[in-house]
Amino acid sequence: MTPENTSAVTSHSPNALLSVEQEIARACAEAGRERSSVTLIAVSKTFAADAITPVIESGQRVFGENRVQEARAKWPALMTAYSDIVLHLIGPLQSNKAKEAVALFHAIHSVDRPSICQALAKEIEAQKKHPELFVQINTGEEAQKAGVAPSDADAFIRSCREAYGLSISGLMCIPPVDEAPGPHFALTAKIAARNGLARLSMGMSADFATAIKFGATHVRVGSAIFGHR
Ligand SMILES: *Cc1c(COP(=O)(O)O)cnc(C)c1O
Repeated sequence: MTPENTSAVTSHSPNALLSVEQEIARACAEAGRERSSVTLIAVSKTFAADAITPVIESGQRVFGENRVQEARAKWPALMTAYSDIVLHLIGPLQSNKAKEAVALFHAIHSVDRPSICQALAKEIEAQKKHPELFVQINTGEEAQKAGVAPSDADAFIRSCREAYGLSISGLMCIPPVDEAPGPHFALTAKIAARNGLARLSMGMSADFATAIKFGATHVRVGSAIFGHR
């Protein structure tokens, strides 16, 4: 192996992004979908700016973080350097972080309870900013996981709209690690369709091609791009 080949396996190899791009393109073609119908969110949580910059330089502009504080520490400088970055919050949100979240993120994937709806509605009004909002569905009904139970989803989405005046763009799910993801993606797509929601945030490094088959419009891919955390 040449030294170049050795360094190509580091966590921020541009080749990793390219492989993910190729797999997305292949999954879209197989599903008869346009490549432009799927947004790749590069999940940069735990990685510092020096690992993120090469991925931006390779052309990636949409990134995901799961903690407000961590994102606040590293993204404002990167967003000043690269003005067209789009940042998604994919992790749980606490009401007391809603102000910072609305200020920093272009999309929030973890709307899942009335206190968050209330805090977001207040900040959207105060800051005149409109992050794209996704309701998280806990499709596996796992006690340790955030999200709305599937049986509560319709009522929750209605209350987001009617009680809090929020515009909801789509749904997000994280299937249980020990189950086939397909049925969880299908259930999320079904709930979205009956609630008139066009966007589906589903699929991670291990299963984004499957998610695209089931209609994902946003795939959240971390380790396949950045390496192991
Ligand atoms: C970390 C994370 C991802 C990315 O996971 P990988 O397996 O590294 O691709 C996607 N979605 C959420 C909610 C995450 O927290």
